[in-house]
Amino acid sequence: MLEFEAALAQVLAAVPAPTNENVPLSEAAGRVLAGQVRSPIDLPAFDNSAMDGYGLRAADVAAAKPDLPVRLRLAGRIAAGDVFAGEVMAGTCVRLFTGSPLPPGADAVVMQETTRVEPNSPGEVLILAPAAPGENVRSHWEDVKRGSTLGDAGELLTAGRLGLLAAVGLAGVRVGRQQVVGLLATGSELQEPGQPLAPGRIYESNRLALAALITRAWAVPRTFPLVADDLAAIRLALADACNQCDAVVTTGGVSVGEMDFIKRAFEQIGGELEFWKVAIKPGRPFVFGRCRGKLLFGLPGNPVSALVTFLLLVRPALLRWQGAANISLPVVPGVMAEPLVNDGGRRHFMRVRMDPAGKTYSAGVQASHVLSSVAAANGLVDVPANTTFTAGTAVSVLRWD
Ligand code: AMP
Ligand code: MG
Repeated sequence: MLEFEAALAQVLAAVPAPTNENVPLSEAAGRVLAGQVRSPIDLPAFDNSAMDGYGLRAADVAAAKPDLPVRLRLAGRIAAGDVFAGEVMAGTCVRLFTGSPLPPGADAVVMQETTRVEPNSPGEVLILAPAAPGENVRSHWEDVKRGSTLGDAGELLTAGRLGLLAAVGLAGVRVGRQQVVGLLATGSELQEPGQPLAPGRIYESNRLALAALITRAWAVPRTFPLVADDLAAIRLALADACNQCDAVVTTGGVSVGEMDFIKRAFEQIGGELEFWKVAIKPGRPFVFGRCRGKLLFGLPGNPVSALVTFLLLVRPALLRWQGAANISLPVVPGVMAEPLVNDGGRRHFMRVRMDPAGKTYSAGVQASHVLSSVAAANGLVDVPANTTFTAGTAVSVLRWD
């Protein structure tokens, strides 16, 4: 049986190199940059006002005081988006708004609050305080210099980075292609929602939960119809999904029960199995294989096992395949607020609930069919075999919320 780290290394080694594509910026959220992006322009592209106020020559107002204001002639008005034809001469000023281009001749902006306009002389502005050169001016390229790096290969396009790329006028960006991931749930007991449960059946829940996780790994889920525990049916469904998708995730049918056909069906369609057991709980039976450049992940049917093995072994592969530099779940330090007990002989990724202050609780019953504790959990803690983390123990929480 493979250790978890060895299994992950084997999965990652099998991940094909990313292929890249150009996408409009409007479709690039969450995508992975395929290469370095440089700025085609300075940002700001021109000196502009940081305030509503008046653009002027700082030297003109060096002696200004509330009781001894400096009187300047109002020479014009520049709204944001306008440009000024002339130059701000000594003894004059120009009305500016936030984002208005600083006109030639001006070197400072005095905010409106430290000025006064007398009703009987609207062509003049009284300046009540001095301004240093550059005051309230957003300088040309103080944010980004033309040619400087805005992002590197492997970085995720977050909202902030997308905003930056948009601000320098980029319309599109080169990113790693997203994998289409087929989702097959196998099991003759499985039923779709919408009908009362037939005797002995259960509602199928893995595809929906996994589709959500696939989307959050920035890949594209494709859900296939339910498949009964029947070798020929599974073979057909697998072949179809492998043809249509980059990777296929199945659930169920991977343990040693005689109804467990995934491995056999996969080999019969020409797939090569790499391994099928990992020394973790939940999720010991986990099949990994390859078929003509496609990857197969055969997850256990137990909903908790399916979810945990996806997070630990499939998610990193999907992110790597898109070219992402960071492929692991965020690790957040926490402190156990109550004991977390693994009295089993296997390493257990236990479901926990961490509060915003870092206090960490068991999410409930840890058996691998119990969904209520998955719903309550926001993370996993890796607990070695036969180990108790007592209250007060510092833990690393793998966050997946
Ligand atoms: P298996 O891995 O096929 O032996 O299934 C293990 C357990 O998980 C059984 O109790 C199944 O009924 C249950 N199970 C399998 N697939 C699903 C599914 N897609 N949704 C919910 N439960 C499932
Ligand atoms: Mg089954």
